[in-house]
Amino acid sequence: MLKTFRIGGVHPPENKLSSSEKIQILPVPEQVIIPLGQHIGAPATPIVQKGDYVKAGQLIATATGFVSANIHSSVSGTIVAIDNFTDAAGLSKPAITIKVEGDEWEKNITRSEKTDHNITLSKEKIIEAISAAGIVGMGGATFPTQVKLSPPPGNKAEILIINGVECEPYLTADHRIMLEKAEEIIVGVQILMKAIDVKQAVIGIENNKRDAIEKLQSLATKTLGVEVCPLKVRYPQGGEKQLIKAITGRSVPSGALPIAVGAVVQNVGTALAVYEAVMQNKPLVERVVTITGKSVKHPGNYLCRIGTPISKLIEAAGGLPEDTTKIIGGGPMMGRAMVNPESPILKGTSGILIINDKEGARKQSRNCIRCSKCVSACPMGLEPYLLMTLATHNMLEDMEKEKVMDCIECGSCSFTCPADRPLLDYIRLGKARTGAMIRNRKK
Ligand code: SF4
Ligand code: SF4
Repeated sequence: MLKTFRIGGVHPPENKLSSSEKIQILPVPEQVIIPLGQHIGAPATPIVQKGDYVKAGQLIATATGFVSANIHSSVSGTIVAIDNFTDAAGLSKPAITIKVEGDEWEKNITRSEKTDHNITLSKEKIIEAISAAGIVGMGGATFPTQVKLSPPPGNKAEILIINGVECEPYLTADHRIMLEKAEEIIVGVQILMKAIDVKQAVIGIENNKRDAIEKLQSLATKTLGVEVCPLKVRYPQGGEKQLIKAITGRSVPSGALPIAVGAVVQNVGTALAVYEAVMQNKPLVERVVTITGKSVKHPGNYLCRIGTPISKLIEAAGGLPEDTTKIIGGGPMMGRAMVNPESPILKGTSGILIINDKEGARKQSRNCIRCSKCVSACPMGLEPYLLMTLATHNMLEDMEKEKVMDCIECGSCSFTCPADRPLLDYIRLGKARTGAMIRNRKK
């Protein structure tokens, strides 16, 4: 029987429209906007000035503090602004804007298609290289990778778990890299194993991606300590705690990190970025992004330079369909609606989903009928109907007691509610306010 997690979970329609579309290279745009905060933690500090010429792969902003990440130019050209821009949510954020001139890369970056298997760096040097390359969690969490690879004192990693689940409907970028960059991913996994000093790595992939499972299994059988674990299809299995439970049977306690049960989880895209950083000296300046939606002419997967306007990706897929009601950054379950399609592709952008008017129409929310379906669907064992009520009344201390901070914002509760109650919207808002209250209290 296939492994999976124990509590909650739902089965949304998969809609993987672009799963058989090979990765294409999106042309380099005329201008890129590279935000200084593309990661969890403090924004990076610029080290360049307006008017400077930079090459692709050049460091342009350095990490500010422990939880932060370096930022590199994804193109060659002249810096035309170091200023605020309007992000996908309509908020003003600092960024470096570069006018593209040619495509000149830093000399020390290897851009060979041939996979290098010879890992020569020490554990310490690997973590240094990952940190220098500005790598963050590519599954969307954008946590700086070097921090995850440096467990706090008293904690020891026992197992590396590679997240190839991609359980969000519509998204297929990870599926494609597992098929097209499998060798590099396996070397990336070996590098990560060396960095955290573990003998075992398990790549978790849901069973709806049989081709990726077979491809990686054929390589893993020749690689000491690495195995592939096919998983039962069930959302949100890509959540760290759900994946750890599915693969190891261990439960990460409330408020604790995966390292508390000896696990370090990294996304397959991160493993690929780690390979490129350590073996090719290449910082995180491009990534594969899915562009999809039922009315999109050519759903696909594109290798995009960080900072490329999202509108260029939409253009490549055949333009914005007439019946568009919403553009979402990410998938339909956890993604967020965007108000500015000129905002850039970021390190954490896994997909752009264009919702048409049929799918986008929200049903009228009705009274709760106390059916408890949201409770059964919640993978964190929470009571979503109660959390929504508490959020409505801004009862933050009660929300804290009901463990709102454990909510992984997966949307399973909203998906399952027969009364179409916008549970996630309210819980997300209440969680943000509760988090702010807790931080203020600690100050
Ligand atoms: S969004 Fe939060 S409350 Fe709702 S099902 Fe997911 S974890 Fe539970
Ligand atoms: S699923 Fe909807 S209707 Fe049922 S208890 Fe939860 S909020 Fe109420």
